[in-house]
Amino acid sequence: MNPRNGLNFSGGPGALPDSVLQQVQEAILCVPEVGLSILGISHRSDWFAAVVTELENNIRTLLELPRGYHVLFLQGGATQQFSTVPMVLLHGKKFPAEYVHSGYWSGKALSEAQRGGGIRVLWSGEECGYRRLARDDELPFSPDAPYIHYVSNETVEGLQFHRVLGRDDVPRVCDMSSDFLSKPCEADRFSLIYAHAQKNIGPAGVTVVIVRESLLEHMPDHLPGFLDYRNHARTHSNFNTPPVFAIYVVLLVTRWLMKEVGGVVRMDQINREKAELLYGLLDRSDGFYCSRAHLEDRSRMNVVFTLATADAQQRFLAEAQAAGFSGLAGHRAIGGVRASIYNALTLSAVEQLAGFMEDFQHRQHRHTRC
Ligand SMILES: *Cc1c(COP(=O)(O)O)cnc(C)c1O
Repeated sequence: MNPRNGLNFSGGPGALPDSVLQQVQEAILCVPEVGLSILGISHRSDWFAAVVTELENNIRTLLELPRGYHVLFLQGGATQQFSTVPMVLLHGKKFPAEYVHSGYWSGKALSEAQRGGGIRVLWSGEECGYRRLARDDELPFSPDAPYIHYVSNETVEGLQFHRVLGRDDVPRVCDMSSDFLSKPCEADRFSLIYAHAQKNIGPAGVTVVIVRESLLEHMPDHLPGFLDYRNHARTHSNFNTPPVFAIYVVLLVTRWLMKEVGGVVRMDQINREKAELLYGLLDRSDGFYCSRAHLEDRSRMNVVFTLATADAQQRFLAEAQAAGFSGLAGHRAIGGVRASIYNALTLSAVEQLAGFMEDFQHRQHRHTRC
């Protein structure tokens, strides 16, 4: 336990495991096998090639990824993928790609894709204020779409799909930025998965892209070199200078997931326990705390809720901050409170937050409901 690292409930960049931070601290000074600081090790070194190979293998193992996929480590964040995906996959297609608009981040993906045209919004949660997700009977996926796109976990609204969307005969593309490696995800049912590191698996600066090899067979030839996945696949993510440091930290996080946690099935159990603790408390609060998301679509990564009045909410956030809980203010787009409980946020930290919340409720003179 690292006593100087606070209780980080931030929506992102998120908490990282203490044991990883300790190794990072050492590596900043010197990576023993190399005799250099991680910040000054060449991306052309054998050591870094081994880092990339091990990380690729760890992700393949953790997700039970079959053959036939590239695992890439890119820059530009998830936002770059919002534009790269349609540039690569929509080129020369007759029919529109289908997007599910379930919240803030899928909206961003959508507006980038719309720049090029050829997009159909299959469903939007706008009318219900993004408080619930689409049911299967509201998603009439077409067999002709070049691909479908959705966000598995809406980080801002605290909504998570607890199933895989779409049809098996249309390529699925999914932004898994905020729940990647938090649970098994049936990776082999997707044609392209992207997830930046800074929510669940590392620092900002690197984005994991898992892409089916066959998807790259008919790519346009006019793409800028950096946006052509084939260049990154061919060079094992060493097309230009990659973010060596960020990639190394993600490697340490995958080692932690495999060796200390025991894999993504175990991680999922722990994450469920953490989420149930908080949602249980909201549900038992007699309307003092109100969950934003509908019951069946609640996110196990971002627990978003409100209090009855703006005043109560402000006091809650101020007192929580003073008690050492960091990053609880809701996203600037919707306000409220958001407890992000990513992989590295421990059950003990969630128990402490739950204790604080019960105590805060009991200390209020008048009980107002939201
Ligand atoms: C935070 C977030 C993004 C934004 O990613 P950047 O790396 O900042 O571009 C995209 N999608 C989801 C689901 C997110 O949570």
